[in-house]
Amino acid sequence: VDKQVVDVLIIGGGSIGATIMIALQQLGYHTLLVEAKPWGSQINPDFDARTLALSPSSQRILDMLGIWDTLQEHATGIEFIHVSEQHQFGAARLHAKTHDPLGYVVEMQHLNAALQQHVPHESIIAPATLQSLCLETATAIIQTLSGACSVHATLIIAADGTESMIREYIQLPATVKNYNQHALVANIGLEEAHQHKAYERFTPYGPLALLPISQNRMSLIWANASERTHCLMTLSDTAFLQALHEAFGYRLGRFTKVGKRFSYPLKQVLMPKQAKWPVVFLGNSAHTLHPIAGQGFNLALRDAASMAQCINQWGLNPNMLQQYARLRHLDQQVIMRFTDGLVQLFGRQQIGAGWIRAIGLIAFDNTPFLKKILARFAQGFGGITPDLVCQIALSTKEGKL
Ligand SMILES: Cc1cc2nc3c(=O)[nH]c(=O)nc-3n(C[C@H](O)[C@H](O)[C@H](O)COP(=O)(O)OP(=O)(O)OC[C@H]3O[C@@H](n4cnc5c(N)ncnc54)[C@H](O)[C@@H]3O)c2cc1C
Repeated sequence: VDKQVVDVLIIGGGSIGATIMIALQQLGYHTLLVEAKPWGSQINPDFDARTLALSPSSQRILDMLGIWDTLQEHATGIEFIHVSEQHQFGAARLHAKTHDPLGYVVEMQHLNAALQQHVPHESIIAPATLQSLCLETATAIIQTLSGACSVHATLIIAADGTESMIREYIQLPATVKNYNQHALVANIGLEEAHQHKAYERFTPYGPLALLPISQNRMSLIWANASERTHCLMTLSDTAFLQALHEAFGYRLGRFTKVGKRFSYPLKQVLMPKQAKWPVVFLGNSAHTLHPIAGQGFNLALRDAASMAQCINQWGLNPNMLQQYARLRHLDQQVIMRFTDGLVQLFGRQQIGAGWIRAIGLIAFDNTPFLKKILARFAQGFGGITPDLVCQIALSTKEGKL
């Protein structure tokens, strides 16, 4: 069996595994990434139709890591957010200050392409999967197409997604909440320009978001009970656009086209304890959120920025992981509760609940203080902010990385 020794082994080369890889390589750590799918398949437009709403703090992290330069041309700024509820009066609005967007929208394929450009190919084993893991010796057996290899690492980062196999291996518990919903994702063509406006609309069946992307297209994320999503997936394009108009109205003019529709099951997965030396969980494996508030990747990116900062400051040891957990606790708790709270609040069907929410939206719209606090956390500036968000480079020895 082929044997390798590295500082950090990352299992899972999704957006979060690739980001932490880039940060650690920039810090000079010998890092190896193992990904189950063929490397490069993630940049196929048919691979993943998701778009991501990136918060300003995420933009800063990607910028500090040198990734934003490649991604920028594919990013659409959000200048206005409109939140409303179907069949209710009242709405909340957030406006951007001049030249300071509230966030950016990027398609997953472009994010993955930008990340992959920055990951050195010799540090990747793909397609390959983790076969076994020995915590005592910090050794992983990796199955590749040409056979098995053994990797000894000082630290192992589990970025292997919601259904993390490593979580099972090392028997750390996770609480799982099944929303019994699926998110339908598709691109929608518009008759009129979107003017960089994003919309979140709560319907009796579930929330829908329309995010502006290039060429007068909006990216739709529409959560519904699983059976209803299934029906929406099978409608003709015309019938589908009609159903979307019934839920959303005509605020954006007439919808002219719908692209290929994809659906994703929605559940919340949370690991109360996200590390057991020498393994630490990052991204969807540590916390998977409902996409209602578009916070999953943003939160995980701040985790990754903090982890790189902790490793830089304390090195690869159990104390570093304790410092990391301490730094990330508040931000994770606030974002997770906020996201789940929105799902519960707008999921209530009792008589009068709609009125209370409508009054809440109006009150929120007229309370700059509340807007400010919420915007702070939603934009990624709440809790203890990672250095990269404050535009402080990871390594001060050689200046900006
Ligand atoms: C519909 C939808 C919309 C969303 N919108 C937003 C948004 O607007 N903003 C936002 O911030 N977030 C959003 N999110 C959340 C965001 O997509 C996730 O937070 C993010 O993709 C998590 O990335 P990850 O790298 O942790 O996990 P994943 O992308 O799941 O990557 C895990 C990787 O690990 C690999 N893997 C798994 N097991 C193994 C193994 N045993 N060996 C080797 N490799 C393995 C997999 O092949 C995969 O590539 C949305 C999610 C959904 C579903």
